[in-house]
Amino acid sequence: MSKLTPMMEQYMKIKNKNKDSILFFRLGDFYEMFFDDALIASKELEITLTGRECGQKEKAPMCGVPFHSADGYISKLVDKGYKVAICEQIENPNEAKGIVKRDVVRIISRGTVTDTKMLDEKNNNYLSSIFMDQNGVGISYADITTGEFYTTQKVTNNSKEGFKALIDELAKIKPKEIIANKYIFENKISDEIEKKIDIVIDKTDDWLFNIEENKKIIKRHFNILNLEGFGISNDNYSIKSVGSLLSYLNETQKNSLSHINNIYKYNIENFMLIDINTRKNLEITETIRDKTKKGSLLWILDKTSTAMGARMLRKWLEEPLLNIDLIQKRLNAIENLYEDIILMDEIKQKLNKVYDIERLIGKIVYGSCNARDLIALKNSIKILPDIKELLINSKSEFLKQLARDIDLLEDVHALIHEAIVEDPPIQTREGGIIKKNYDEKLDELLNASIEGKNWLNKLEANEKNRTGIKSLKIGFNKVFGYYIEVRKSNIKLVPDNYIRKQTLSNSERYITPELKEMESKILGAEEKSVILEYNIFVEIRDKLKAKIERMQSTAKIIATIDCLNSLSLVSYKNNYIKPKINSEKIINIKKGRHPVVEKVLKNEMFIPNDTFLDNEDNRLNIITGPNMAGKSTYMRQVAIITLMAQIGSFVPAEYADICLVDRIFTRVGASDDLSQGQSTFMVEMNEVANILNNSSKNSLIILDEIGRGTSTYDGLSIAWAVIEYISDKSKIGAKTLFSTHYHELTELEGKIEGIKNYKITVKEAGEDIIFLRKVVRGEADKSYGIEVANLAGVPSEVTSRAKNILRDLEENDINYSNNISSNGDIKENKSESQIDIFKMKENEIIELIKSIDLINLTPLESMNLL
Ligand code: ADP
Repeated sequence: MSKLTPMMEQYMKIKNKNKDSILFFRLGDFYEMFFDDALIASKELEITLTGRECGQKEKAPMCGVPFHSADGYISKLVDKGYKVAICEQIENPNEAKGIVKRDVVRIISRGTVTDTKMLDEKNNNYLSSIFMDQNGVGISYADITTGEFYTTQKVTNNSKEGFKALIDELAKIKPKEIIANKYIFENKISDEIEKKIDIVIDKTDDWLFNIEENKKIIKRHFNILNLEGFGISNDNYSIKSVGSLLSYLNETQKNSLSHINNIYKYNIENFMLIDINTRKNLEITETIRDKTKKGSLLWILDKTSTAMGARMLRKWLEEPLLNIDLIQKRLNAIENLYEDIILMDEIKQKLNKVYDIERLIGKIVYGSCNARDLIALKNSIKILPDIKELLINSKSEFLKQLARDIDLLEDVHALIHEAIVEDPPIQTREGGIIKKNYDEKLDELLNASIEGKNWLNKLEANEKNRTGIKSLKIGFNKVFGYYIEVRKSNIKLVPDNYIRKQTLSNSERYITPELKEMESKILGAEEKSVILEYNIFVEIRDKLKAKIERMQSTAKIIATIDCLNSLSLVSYKNNYIKPKINSEKIINIKKGRHPVVEKVLKNEMFIPNDTFLDNEDNRLNIITGPNMAGKSTYMRQVAIITLMAQIGSFVPAEYADICLVDRIFTRVGASDDLSQGQSTFMVEMNEVANILNNSSKNSLIILDEIGRGTSTYDGLSIAWAVIEYISDKSKIGAKTLFSTHYHELTELEGKIEGIKNYKITVKEAGEDIIFLRKVVRGEADKSYGIEVANLAGVPSEVTSRAKNILRDLEENDINYSNNISSNGDIKENKSESQIDIFKMKENEIIELIKSIDLINLTPLESMNLL
């Protein structure tokens, strides 16, 4: 191999250290990519592939993008799952001896994006690190745009349990990028995560998870002597995931990340546990069908005004509380606001003017903020006293406390106010940012340039007089600097001391020695002032860095107020009420509604319904009723009202008395798990197994028609046994809503303690049925499947045929309940019922043969008949 050119050698050295990233190599005004990177980037970005001499026989494939428009290209690559390493010139080319020094200044990936255009402002952008082995799992996650950092761990001797906790937690966090130790890959857990959470995990170096190193890194980052302050000194799983996450960030961001100044440690059990299926089924933050916020509970509840509030509200919904005091705090605050619509409105007006302080802080730390960002920060701070005043005398202790804790950040406001002009440009390196009277030296330079310009104006006037050329003017361009322009027609009048510099089609441009002298004064002052302005700006930015913690805590308070106000507004507008929270293990809802369905119904009024569940006689409600009657809406409504109460929100009902539940489980319909290569029935049974193994008497369980995916008797038997198991206090005894088409199950009321039958009413109207949607005690008498099929537009030939079959079946008395003995055992007589169906067909044929008019039948007719 021939030798590479020196620049290519430098490139290779840097590339070798960044093999898994696409290297953006800064050359002058461009970022260039070479070799494989160039092949990938030219294709993905649709830019031209060229070549560059590299010292070898063949040219190196190359493509490039201008540095000033690089952000868009970087976003595109990162969005497609690539990492991009930004390699800059790290010394001034004018001062460099030989090749300019270059190095990677940052690596951008999905989890470390900071470009606001790539971020969803109402959603956190989490990067997560997982450390797992057979005895436990540690999960940490951070949002570098806001500085939030969380960690938790689960120690268990059962690796399945660890896996389940991991999946459920990741379903909540929804990280954009995950790093993980070897175990995750070796045990194919990474594949499971990819399937269930839809995220690809890159292979990560295992040395990141060295516990001693991890401890050192944590102590160094937070500048602490031990880990006790964060409460994780004995949590080795947490330590490994926190430490690895920080190392990864150090490696890739090469930035102090001073806004990550706290670790929030939590226990998974501190919040209501919602497993991955339930999270999907209840459509808490996104819909099942198209995974959008629209149509979810969050969509209804989110009327926040700030991005910070929107992100926090999402978190509240994802983490319903188990602490009655915290819930009451929120409820009382909402009640306080709810009673005063004018106050709610005023708060909203004020919050509308507050920018995303958290992400502005992130930009300050990253040095990517411009002067407009600082003005946005200042204008947000300006609103703080108003918000404080609105809430300081609140009845609610919580609101009062929040108001009291707002730091007015007067020093931050003053600093920005004194230094930065009101309407600065986007660019930070072109001047026009710093106010007069802020810096003496800058004022001198600016004055010099202004005086210079005045001098030019005078010169122009004098020269016009002296030469008699009316159209003479002084102009400026970047190549020639200041010049005197004279039209061709006036050239005769040009004096001797003018030196010709440039000829245009209609005019000539001249300079004079005195003009050039002034030019260097003006330009020198301008150049110096622009540099000085930038330096002052950076100085201010650094001063602000020292105040980050105070800004962060005020940002959190504002977000909290925004959440509370949003929940109050929604409650007010939608007629929600304050739920009571009891410790008597009762769920008692009067006229409850489904908050989303009631909003999206077009032609119908939503019919409210009552619910009563306790841990005694009303543990398990069996709900029957035709398809489309509203069974699953009703059951979800109970789950969602309970969840809303535990978020601390008002609920859609006329009255609600809710006990805290430790978990909500749902098994609803066929989910989209089919793509995972499992049969519907297998998926269903997996979920049932999960529920039976993990629920307690304090849980709330929603089971929608389980046992459908197999033969009738199988399904009925399973449903039956599941009901027995769940309702048994010595086994589970959880509050349960159980919808079913197996009317036979309604016979369990009275036979098994705690079971009550409910049905959703319908009214027959000729061929059709009308859904009354009222839940009442009792059991449905029939399924109305054919009527529903009719409503759905199944051809009448099929539905009337179905009716005949049904009638025959009923006449032949294929009634499952007759096959169930009084002790609940089911006689295995599936074959009998199949024979019955054939018998019926036989009868039909016999009837047909009997009806043949043999004497008058033509030969052709008899052939057809046969
Ligand atoms: P099922 O589970 O019994 O098949 P669903 O709960 O899916 O029925 O309800 C079917 C449709 O009926 C819903 O999409 C909704 O439009 C409507 N619906 C359900 N409950 C109500 C109600 N209480 N009031 C008004 N409409 C309702």
